[in-house]
Amino acid sequence: MSILFHHPGAYFDGKKSICSHCGIELGNALLSETPCTVRTAYYIQIDLDYDRYGDLSGCLLFIDVYNLVPHLRAAVMNEDSMECFDLEIDPDCEDELNEAMLAAVSEQGSISTSGHYSLTKPLLSRVSVLIKKGKIKRRV
Ligand SMILES: [Zn+2]
Repeated sequence: MSILFHHPGAYFDGKKSICSHCGIELGNALLSETPCTVRTAYYIQIDLDYDRYGDLSGCLLFIDVYNLVPHLRAAVMNEDSMECFDLEIDPDCEDELNEAMLAAVSEQGSISTSGHYSLTKPLLSRVSVLIKKGKIKRRV
C-alpha cells in the first residue's frame, strides 16, 4: 500500500515542479509521497493482483464529493495527470459504505464542500475487503 499526498500548488523551477507551500519536489499531478504542510487530501494505492483485479490494481482510491453525495472513485496516473473513473458498488453494501464515506468526509471537512477526500483507515480496510469479495468493481 502506498499513499500519495496532494499539494495545493506548484511552480516550475526550470527542471521540476516545486510545491509553493512546502517547497518539496512534486511528481505528476501535484502528488508526492511526502505530505504537504497544508492539510490536503491523499490518495491510497492498495496492492492488488493484476491478474485478478485488473484495472483496480495500482489505482489510487479516494472519495469524490459533489451534489452533497460521496462517491467512491479511483484514479490512475498518466504522464502528467490523473485519469479518474467511477466504481460500482454492489447494492448489498451500498448503504453501509455510504455511511462510512460520510463519516470519513465529516472527519476531514464537510459534505457541503465538494472535492476529493481521503479514505480513512477503517474505510480503507472495509473497501479492501469488498474489492476482494468482488463487491466493488470498476464501472464499465
Ligand atoms: Zn506541499
